[in-house]
Amino acid sequence: ARFDSFGLAPEILRALQEQGYEHPTPIQEQAIPVVLQGRDVMGAAQTGTGKTAGFSLPIIQNLLVHANTSASPARHPVRALILTPTRELADQVADNVKAYSRFTGLRSAVVFGGVDIGPQTAILRGGVEIVIATPGRLLDHVAQKSINLSQTQILIMDEADRMLDMGFLPDLQRIINLLPKKRQNLMFSATFSPEIKKLAASFLSDPVTIEV
Ligand code: AMP
Repeated sequence: ARFDSFGLAPEILRALQEQGYEHPTPIQEQAIPVVLQGRDVMGAAQTGTGKTAGFSLPIIQNLLVHANTSASPARHPVRALILTPTRELADQVADNVKAYSRFTGLRSAVVFGGVDIGPQTAILRGGVEIVIATPGRLLDHVAQKSINLSQTQILIMDEADRMLDMGFLPDLQRIINLLPKKRQNLMFSATFSPEIKKLAASFLSDPVTIEV
């Protein structure tokens, strides 16, 4: 398969060309079409499989296609939220998202704990469409009103099993309650424990399961 068979925007294909990606990986072949259709996804994939591009490319495309048509746009609405368990993963995903979206005009920001909150607040207040975050620091930004999740159309949980292991379930539930009911949900996990299945059942709607 080829990247140009998915119907991705030329701005995205150009970024892939600059990255030197020639062919989609197996998870990308499976995930890109179903995410483009707007379906929820439960993905079993380890790091190293290309899962980050597997979800980032189609969500960037979906954000480009579905312009924000809200009648009363809130201040700085975030349109896609990517949650990760650790600062390292957040940074890595953010670097990928920035690379894939660099010709699209979409703006992104990464927020995680353990560092000064001020610079993150300034970036969020400037307005971004995509946020990559660890759960605790995201809720700090919600509390200080530097982020508005009332129009977030797409939620991605990356390494959901690690988020549960790290005790983030209450934070995840708080975050999900802040999002619109109608949205697209993607969840990636290296393992499928009963707890992960329960989390998936509680927030995914008729998901397509992808395993590589
Ligand atoms: P990930 O599993 O998302 O952490 O990706 C693993 C590595 O593979 C990253 O360094 C990506 O930049 C790279 N990568 C992802 N997709 C492709 C692709 N289709 N062709 C070549 N490299 C890729």
